Amino acid sequence: MLKLIIYTETFISDYVLELIRDAYLRSVDIEVHNIHLGSEVELCFNSVRNQVNASKLLDLLTMKFVEKDEYVKYVFVVNVDAYVPGLNYVLGVARMCGNHAIVFTPRLRQEFWGLPSNEQLFYERLAKEIIHEVGHTLCFEHCITPTCVMRFSNSVFETDEKSHRFCSKCETRLIKILKTIHKSWV
Ligand SMILES: [Zn+2]
Ligand SMILES: [Zn+2]
Repeated sequence: MLKLIIYTETFISDYVLELIRDAYLRSVDIEVHNIHLGSEVELCFNSVRNQVNASKLLDLLTMKFVEKDEYVKYVFVVNVDAYVPGLNYVLGVARMCGNHAIVFTPRLRQEFWGLPSNEQLFYERLAKEIIHEVGHTLCFEHCITPTCVMRFSNSVFETDEKSHRFCSKCETRLIKILKTIHKSWV
């Protein structure tokens, strides 16, 4: 079975896990652990931008959480805003066909945009970002289907327009991957 190990700095509700399980067709095993990435974030922090360099942090976490099983994925949920060189900000990053992904929470919150807090919306966005980044670790590239979870979102408001699920074309591919994983366990 596909395994997700989530290390989080923020509380993750059962609703988030439910959306992840639904998108991955109930063929995923999820573990959640609390973490505080203070020293790692500090090492990758750009004090001029007041943001963390997401690529650097991903490199650091990949080295720290070594994983050889290609179907064990680590997702870090971090409470700091992030960028990659060339982009003003990113909501998440992932190692393509790798084992590690990071989702950054500040911009997923309505408060960040001066809007009233909405917990349900925050959790929906968090789930979509986790599902999307884990998709990259499974070698999914961006999809052009508007509702597909693998569609690229330029902003969190674009994240709101897509569903938490893979489109039918991506889902067909996902089923093949999940079957391959299942076979390797038999
Ligand atoms: Zn992406
Ligand atoms: Zn798709």
